[in-house]
Amino acid sequence: MHINGGCFCGAITYEAEIDPGRVGICHCRDCQILSGSAFRMSTMAVPGSVKITKGTPAHFEKQTDSGNPRLMTFCSNCGTHLFADPVDAEAEGAFTSIRLSTCEQFDQLRPIAELYCDRRVDWLPAMDGTIQFAKMPE
Ligand SMILES: [Zn+2]
Ligand SMILES: [Zn+2]
Repeated sequence: MHINGGCFCGAITYEAEIDPGRVGICHCRDCQILSGSAFRMSTMAVPGSVKITKGTPAHFEKQTDSGNPRLMTFCSNCGTHLFADPVDAEAEGAFTSIRLSTCEQFDQLRPIAELYCDRRVDWLPAMDGTIQFAKMPE
């Protein structure tokens, strides 16, 4: 599926190809902080399909639970978080995770899995039709 989106202020826009059957939401603490909400919705882009069509995003590096660094890609003007990118795009299994609320097709996509359910807020029930993972699936 082809998607397109961008940051809040419009300085950065992008296009990508995704598998609409691989949309997940993440309850980890990092996603809560970076989204400003209880969870964040993401998908893996088809490798090589992400194209920045306007602007130049900024990055910072964060350590994940597994100990691997990831590049957080965001708009330096409005602060919208767009992607988590591999530090080494050539590495085996390298992929970009797209923060799905930034794409225009957002409301056509449904999550199929919930990650880091051990950090889910206690007022939020498991979503019908999703697979639950305590942390990140292997
Ligand atoms: Zn922006
Ligand atoms: Zn997360």
